[in-house]
Amino acid sequence: MNRILPGQTIGIIGGGQLGRMMALAAKEAGFKIAVLDPAKNSPCGQVADIEITAAFDDRDALKALADASDVITYEFENINAEALEWLGEISLIPQGSELIRITQNRRLEKEMLDRAKVPVASYKIIENEQELYDKIETFGFPAVLKTLTGGYDGKGQVKLNSVEDLLEGEALIKQHGPCVAESFVSFEKEISVIVHRNSSGQTTTLPIAENVHLNHILHESIVPARLEPEVSRLAITLALQIADAIELVGTLAVEMFVKDTGEIFVNELAPRPHNSGHFSIEACETSQFHQHIRAICNWPLKSTALIKPVVMVNVLGQHVEPVVESIGRYANWSIHLYGKEQPKENRKMGHVTIMTANINETLNQINASQIWKTT
Ligand code: AMP
Repeated sequence: MNRILPGQTIGIIGGGQLGRMMALAAKEAGFKIAVLDPAKNSPCGQVADIEITAAFDDRDALKALADASDVITYEFENINAEALEWLGEISLIPQGSELIRITQNRRLEKEMLDRAKVPVASYKIIENEQELYDKIETFGFPAVLKTLTGGYDGKGQVKLNSVEDLLEGEALIKQHGPCVAESFVSFEKEISVIVHRNSSGQTTTLPIAENVHLNHILHESIVPARLEPEVSRLAITLALQIADAIELVGTLAVEMFVKDTGEIFVNELAPRPHNSGHFSIEACETSQFHQHIRAICNWPLKSTALIKPVVMVNVLGQHVEPVVESIGRYANWSIHLYGKEQPKENRKMGHVTIMTANINETLNQINASQIWKTT
């Protein structure tokens, strides 16, 4: 693959915050940005050179994006895989469409993880309501039932603690079709490893993030994750194993559960920069967004070494006002807001990054700020 160079145009499918942060990184090097999003003035549209406003599967709009761009990437995984495949025939999409197809469907994702020989929680595909009753017997409780497609931030899943919860499980299958039942993993920590790979096969990983969720939404990432060295090594090995198995080009975020025994189970994958990697903008020698751009433009990848320990906290709709009010009090906080107009409850509006010599002190400072007290 030829190298894509400054002055050329990177097309981004999706105008959210991930696209915006990709665009900002790319523009530093002198790239131009074209973006496709159904909403005008999207977070990425605000910083792009060319804004195309249309549905993601609108073939004319995709053709217009192809005409405007020298290379195309995406910032979210719910693009129609066939439309992306079609687009790949008329434009350069180094990431391809296969990874999108796999990560859109938990069945294909689990099968791929099995092929890559990485451990996942034991699971069974549940095709219909009757199978739920038949299969759960051998499977046991507690379990988690997840829709095969469309779930995010805890939506589209039901925890099954006992037979009494099966009715709720049945309702999920009725509404969404086949599901996957997984053993519930009593994990000690959730972590993520973000891998980049370019088309020459060079890989890097970001420092491991330890992720704290509240109401199924990422609240905080603590980096480096507080893990035994051999557990960290295993996490990185597993992430690279997946990246190599799928011949990744671009970015892959690998979410994992860590048990107190040090055992690791891969939970899910995202084929794009990830919320739990935002800390890298300030805290790494190369951010996940810069590295993504380097990977898809076939540049050599740079070191992602951690400059300083760091905590990243998400700013949801309900946190915007108190965060803005507190700017004068916390000179050590880097404030990121994504330019979204409506600060709806639980909508991701921005994040705060705090580099620190002392993680515990910083976690105490975050608590003492009272900003996140209601989440
Ligand atoms: P997911 O949409 O698969 O990322 O799941 C959202 C959240 O639900 C995860 O971050 C976990 O906190 C929890 N979760 C999902 N699957 C399991 C599992 N098999 N065992 C324990 N917790 C889970």
